[in-house]
Amino acid sequence: MTDPRLYCDSSLSAAAEIRLGRDESHYLISVMRRKTGDKVRLFNAQDGEWEAEIGAADRKGAVLTVGARLRVAQGVPDLDLLFAPVKKARTDFIVEKAAELGVRRIRPVLTQRTIADKVRIDRLGALAKEAAEQTERFDLPEIFEAEKLAAILDGWPADRVLIYCDEAGEALPMATALRDRPTNKAAILIGPEGGFTPEERARIRSLPSALPVSLGPRILRADTAAAAALSLWQSQCGDWAGGAQPRE
Ligand code: SAH
Repeated sequence: MTDPRLYCDSSLSAAAEIRLGRDESHYLISVMRRKTGDKVRLFNAQDGEWEAEIGAADRKGAVLTVGARLRVAQGVPDLDLLFAPVKKARTDFIVEKAAELGVRRIRPVLTQRTIADKVRIDRLGALAKEAAEQTERFDLPEIFEAEKLAAILDGWPADRVLIYCDEAGEALPMATALRDRPTNKAAILIGPEGGFTPEERARIRSLPSALPVSLGPRILRADTAAAAALSLWQSQCGDWAGGAQPRE
């Protein structure tokens, strides 16, 4: 069984003493049933991943002593996911898959047909952190507050391509579109269950940075579309292209 892997935002270096908060101590001692002398992996985007040993510990608090560095931090590609929040379970799925599929920023977008108006950023952050620990990335995806589509489009930077997943067709297959316009500063936009309105479609397509793409002849649920589009981008433009990294 591999050692538990915990995100730690305090700086990690040999012999550093790390005090875990109540939640992490509870998780480590009560859920993962680890005890004094057991090993844990601590990581963050600045310091990489380090081995640590559990010292004094109970479910209210645990002290870890940092030992050797295990891995140097690696970043994820400069890829944002913009998605219209859908039903809770599916939104949770989208956030978790975005973390695993190496998204750097997760941006909930409020469109005319978005059903969820309240987006619990703290809850999505906790989900993304857990997924980052499991998927062995070093940084946490940044979760933005929900913003209206029009405001996002008004301020859209010219140097970031907006890959617009348009279920209404008249768009190149995503693989072809990406080949014609290789990108390394990208964003993928996924709409709500109800899709985009004609006005929204026109507004998005009027953006010079917009790249409308098709995800095939079938209508995918928003969570399926997000996972599919992210996978395609990583495979063609992102960090899947380098093949599997050697794992120790
Ligand atoms: N209710 C709409 C579908 C919305 S699906 C309708 O029936 O037309 C939710 C989102 O997933 C869409 O807004 C789009 O961003 C994406 N999506 C789903 N299927 C797609 C496809 N075949 N091609 C491109 N994007 C798709």
